[in-house]
Amino acid sequence: MNNDCLFCAIAAGTIPSVKVYETDAVLAFLDISPVEKGHTLVISKRAHSETILDTPPDIASELLAAAKTVAAGMMAAGFGGVNLVQNNFKDGGQAVPHIHFHVIPRAKDRHGPLVWASGSNPYADDAERNVYAERIRAGIEAAQAPLPS
Ligand SMILES: [Zn+2]
Repeated sequence: MNNDCLFCAIAAGTIPSVKVYETDAVLAFLDISPVEKGHTLVISKRAHSETILDTPPDIASELLAAAKTVAAGMMAAGFGGVNLVQNNFKDGGQAVPHIHFHVIPRAKDRHGPLVWASGSNPYADDAERNVYAERIRAGIEAAQAPLPS
């Protein structure tokens, strides 16, 4: 991990985040500048790499599997759709040079392609942010639960 990296610090817990999903390998937390409410970032806790190009395949696989878990949770939580976005390099719109997947839930009335405008849908307050975090956490739990027999 990298001492000068914001997302390494978030992965280590030295900088707080609103977590929605965590394993030994990955952390998913709410973006502080959401494109849509519920906008979640998935990062590795195991390694620092900057873009998809320098990320080992096993780490990339863990990130994509976690992004899928979060996306499934969002759909179980009643959102209408979900977008996965992964930006690389400054010219590709990457804001933090530690690889991350964006998992962006879409409300049922938000038809059409994603409009990427960082921070365009801020939370009214911490309470609203926590409502979205809890909704996504509950959805992930529901999506992972075994089917009743
Ligand atoms: Zn890092």
